[in-house]
Amino acid sequence: MASTTIASAAPLRLAAWQPASMLDWPGRIAVTVFVRGCPFRCAYCHNPDLLAPGAQTDCAALLEHLQRRAGWIDGVAITGGEPTSDPALVPFLRALRELGLPAKLDTNGGRPDVLERLLDEQLVDMVAMDVKTVPERYDALTGMPGSARTVIASAKLVIGSGVPHEFRTTAWPGALTLDDFPRIAASLEGGQRYVIQQFRAERTLDPAAAAVLPFKSDALHAAARACSPYVPTVVRGAA
Ligand code: SF4
Repeated sequence: MASTTIASAAPLRLAAWQPASMLDWPGRIAVTVFVRGCPFRCAYCHNPDLLAPGAQTDCAALLEHLQRRAGWIDGVAITGGEPTSDPALVPFLRALRELGLPAKLDTNGGRPDVLERLLDEQLVDMVAMDVKTVPERYDALTGMPGSARTVIASAKLVIGSGVPHEFRTTAWPGALTLDDFPRIAASLEGGQRYVIQQFRAERTLDPAAAAVLPFKSDALHAAARACSPYVPTVVRGAA
């Protein structure tokens, strides 16, 4: 039975996969799957090579690994790019369910319709969702008209789902001010965790984005304290 669904799940727009990682799903040994394609164009994107959808790819080696190692790994972390932009995501997640493998989804929240389906079918066990900035700055950052509206809808779905989750903001000063963090947190009231991630000027979609000076660490921690009355907030990547 499992092999039938597994076969029909392929091919994803698979960019790459890692056989085991402890970084992508904290506390778990997970296979990490990178899916191509994202309709947003955030200037600071660290994975610009994954933004074009590209061709769907044969997933035979990945699927064989998952079948063989299902008893040895704690789950599958699916990231990108933007996994919800791949029509093969839903059958792929169904196949993971048949294998008894928990799934974590990283998403930009731009496809509430897909997210709703995944949550309704109980196909994901953890959601990590970006909330990149306040609504009035969203479209300028993502290059996608209406992106704020879709992300607000997705956040509501995630909060109401009961599925373990966290929301994340990359603290890129080109897209938000320190005062924006508590505004974002207030919009996430009822959420389980809010993570403010320090911006690292490594590889970026727009080379000019790397020249923007990051917020100071103590300023981010102060912002996190201002957010915590709304949703438990932590800072990642800043001392
Ligand atoms: S950072 Fe932005 S452009 Fe890059 S994958 Fe995430 S949502 Fe897409």
